[in-house]
Amino acid sequence: MNLNTIAVLGGGPGGLYAARLLKRSHPDAEVTVYEQGLPDTTFGFGVGLASRTQRNLRQADEQSLDAIVSASHPHEMAMRVGDDEVRLAHGELLAIGRATLLSVLQRYAEEAGVILRYGARRSAGELAADLIVAADGISSATRGEFADEFGPSIAEGDGLYLWCGTEFALPSAVFTPVTTEHGTFVAHAYPYARDRSTFLIETDEQTWKLAGFDVSTAETPNGESDQTSLDYLQDAFAKTLQGNRLIGNRTKWLRFRTVRCRSWHHRNIVLLGDSAHTAHYSIGSGTKLAMEDAIALDRALLAADGLEAALDAYELERRPAVEHLQAIAERSMAWWDSFADRMTIPVAQLMLAYMTRAGKVTVERFAESAPHVVPAGLAAFAAVAPADVPAPGAITDWILTRPLVHSTHRFTGRDAPSGLRDTTRTARVTVTVRPWSDEAAAIVAGLPPAGVYWLEGPDDRESTLDRLELGERIRLATDALVVADVPAALRADAAAALASARVDLVAFTR
Ligand SMILES: Cc1cc2nc3c(=O)[nH]c(=O)nc-3n(C[C@H](O)[C@H](O)[C@H](O)COP(=O)(O)OP(=O)(O)OC[C@H]3O[C@@H](n4cnc5c(N)ncnc54)[C@H](O)[C@@H]3O)c2cc1C
Repeated sequence: MNLNTIAVLGGGPGGLYAARLLKRSHPDAEVTVYEQGLPDTTFGFGVGLASRTQRNLRQADEQSLDAIVSASHPHEMAMRVGDDEVRLAHGELLAIGRATLLSVLQRYAEEAGVILRYGARRSAGELAADLIVAADGISSATRGEFADEFGPSIAEGDGLYLWCGTEFALPSAVFTPVTTEHGTFVAHAYPYARDRSTFLIETDEQTWKLAGFDVSTAETPNGESDQTSLDYLQDAFAKTLQGNRLIGNRTKWLRFRTVRCRSWHHRNIVLLGDSAHTAHYSIGSGTKLAMEDAIALDRALLAADGLEAALDAYELERRPAVEHLQAIAERSMAWWDSFADRMTIPVAQLMLAYMTRAGKVTVERFAESAPHVVPAGLAAFAAVAPADVPAPGAITDWILTRPLVHSTHRFTGRDAPSGLRDTTRTARVTVTVRPWSDEAAAIVAGLPPAGVYWLEGPDDRESTLDRLELGERIRLATDALVVADVPAALRADAAAALASARVDLVAFTR
């Protein structure tokens, strides 16, 4: 396809990477990136890059990926609650400073012949080009300007987060909660350079208000950092910070916004990256998604005869992968929003719950990559010694056959006896709502008194995962035995839910 001019709105990772790939594929076209900020300023601190990202980026552009990897900082992962810590030796985790990543991508875009224009805010309407790539981020004005055509919907998370950093490298990534007189704050912290770490801190609305952060948020001018919160959290996380300061970069409490759009293109304008879709940061995938969009757009433009067909093909290819990750991210966000409720779970079992929180990783798969952590987590679940936990391959069956004593009930395994469904002490609950929605909260609040709650509902996988998550809410809110129907084909999900203390028993259907 003949493209003479390509305008890219936004010089974030998505825009810069797209510009380089497009210029290489269309050497005669004039490709210009318009970025409102300056080349060496950006928001945020470091971002994590999952290993899969690297494989995809290597295939598309080995040179820039090598430069990104060599500017990144590898690290391991730990979970710490109080003095108890469990560490994963995970060889594939990488993080990179956002500013460093952008400077690498700027260099490679320029090297390919892309023109970079900094320091002025532009709109898609004022740019004359054959193709306009709107990579203008989560607050995309382009998406707003053509709202009827793109059909955006934006959902805000319940919890609040603060993206800050510190001037030393933590020994590994760490997830760690701290409880103050106002409530619980959880840090997701990881090193991204020899002298820098990202510190992402989350809390719930009640704690945020009790600590007075609704006031400090309102009083922090745009473009500045909420120093009141930073000072408070620096004290709260003093142990993890090892005496170092917490620093801000236009840092304010925010609620995560999940963006979805009915369509990603209109005429010659195409949305890419956060302007089209976002996925909660706890799965560390936003940058990857933006750069993978760029790869797909470049390929679609090379393969199709006309612009409209190319943009259709781009969207057709990317939408399923994006929606899949958004579904995982939504579960992950809900897990973190309710993290404070799980702090009595032994830390190795909590790590197991964390890894299986979104239905992406099975206990068996996790056991293969974490042979020291998983036996400890499963031993805590089954009240046995870690040496009694079997090797991967036999774990799912082992979980399902663990005995359970619950008040007067004794069970030889975790597959619920069918007679339990209809006892006078059993309340059957049909679940057709998302587990973290207001409707779910109403179900939990309005449960009839019962010794057993038996959760039923549709048998597709997403509904089953919803049911298992609602099971956890009910377990946390009551002393009753919680049973959930699970299709026989979803044994791995049943095992993950049992081992993570989401439900007490499962009942296999069909
Ligand atoms: C707290 C937090 C933690 C995160 N952690 C991770 C992580 O660990 N790993 C990960 O992969 N992702 C992470 N992300 C997500 C990641 O930051 C984004 O998904 C990614 O930056 C998206 O890239 P983008 O190019 O689409 O948009 P952006 O990076 O937002 O870039 C958009 C650019 O467009 C510019 N712009 C906007 N409007 C205009 C205009 N009108 N004119 C000119 N320029 C304009 C902006 O200045 C900006 O530079 C995190 C996000 C958050 C909020």
